[in-house]
Amino acid sequence: MFHYIALGSTSEISGSAHYLNLAGTGILLDSGQDPNIDGVAGLPDFNLLEKHPDWGVDYAILSHAHHDHIGSLPVMLRHFPHARIHMTQPTRLLLDFLLPESARLQKKRFKEGVNAHPPMFTEEQAELAAYLYRSWPLETPFDLNEGVRAQASIQATFYHAGHTLGAVGTLLEVEQGEQAFRAFYSGDLSLRAQAIQPGADFPKGPVDVLILESTLGADPTAELTTRKREEDRLLEGIQKTIKRKGSVLIPAFALGRSQEMIALIGRWKKQKKLPEDLPIYTAGAQRAISDIYDRTRFISPRIDEKFEVFKIEQKRLPKSKAKLDHLISGEEPGIFIVGSGMLFERTLSHRIALKMIGDPRHSIFFVGYVKPDCPGAVLLEAAQNRTTEKVALDPLHQPEGMTIACTVERFRFSGHSNRRELLQVVEKLQPRKVLLVHGEDEARIWMADNIRYFYPDTEVILPTQGVPVLVA
Ligand SMILES: [Zn+2]
Ligand SMILES: [Zn+2]
Repeated sequence: MFHYIALGSTSEISGSAHYLNLAGTGILLDSGQDPNIDGVAGLPDFNLLEKHPDWGVDYAILSHAHHDHIGSLPVMLRHFPHARIHMTQPTRLLLDFLLPESARLQKKRFKEGVNAHPPMFTEEQAELAAYLYRSWPLETPFDLNEGVRAQASIQATFYHAGHTLGAVGTLLEVEQGEQAFRAFYSGDLSLRAQAIQPGADFPKGPVDVLILESTLGADPTAELTTRKREEDRLLEGIQKTIKRKGSVLIPAFALGRSQEMIALIGRWKKQKKLPEDLPIYTAGAQRAISDIYDRTRFISPRIDEKFEVFKIEQKRLPKSKAKLDHLISGEEPGIFIVGSGMLFERTLSHRIALKMIGDPRHSIFFVGYVKPDCPGAVLLEAAQNRTTEKVALDPLHQPEGMTIACTVERFRFSGHSNRRELLQVVEKLQPRKVLLVHGEDEARIWMADNIRYFYPDTEVILPTQGVPVLVA
């Protein structure tokens, strides 16, 4: 008997945690935390497994190091302390940095009163988890045969998923007597190459079960956008800004999008499309992550193995407020690539945005996902519709809001495949059953309708959190 149960919410992009019980062996695929909900409410519900006394977690497999896939790992280990945790080598290096960093941040935010919830784990607990990590190269099968109640032999293999550094899809091959069973978990994926990494390279089917992400399932614009066009638009935007002696703020997520942007700007400088001496300012966690990109360039797929993020000259963003203000009000153009990507309050990008908004020379260019109602989305909407004269990005200090004088634009550089490409994944893996996860309901429904239409032999299931699905 093979069962699946979603421990996290499946109807939105929240903490991913998919549990498979394969003939007695418990495998948790990802252990995420909802990035939009602080505290216990944003955790997957590990207690759901307690209703099934035989359903422990023997192994956790982490598809990649984004918070919505790893953020609850130390909490999971309190429920299942004997679980061993498998991932790729780059993901392991990222985890060694990101989980203790997350503990520090939770503590700080709680202390400062930004977050009403006490930290869910300590830095020490995050560091201790590392003793349970095992890392594997791509396309190299490893055994999951030491489950406490194991009755079948299981092998797992990682395949490059393109999405971000270290991201993989996982093939699980199970043998129980005469019965053979194959399941594939896509994680987050991009079939298309990005600036540093080539696109996903998944195996051929058939598989019995495909657990598939559906992030862009309800996004028709994503199908119509080409990377080339977005790159051209961004380049043009930067050129126009520096011509009027303005600076560019690119709010970007520390893992993935930042390094992509640095790579692009480096390429444009090399091609003489941007001045060689145009400074790029970077800061904080993002610099540590860039270092991991460089250290793993021979052990994870690259478009150009020789490319190094730090070979592109970057200046450290000044720590002092006075120096930073001076840079922004000065005559010297620069590009600021800093977090958060959504302009959350008390972050560097938020602080710089407040300085830039009133100055018509400057530009703020969003290059990643901006969730509705976050400060980034508020600014974008106000700038695009020009419905509001003023935007309140800092209600505490400037309740009356600020007039938008700078240029604000959005560019699409997704690390996710669009919905047509997700259908190609179904085509390649030829699943008997598809479980659609990691997407809003609207996205999963579009995917379900289209899979049923194009692949009528495939059964489509939209799992609900906490409801077990018998998969074989
Ligand atoms: Zn991701
Ligand atoms: Zn995700």
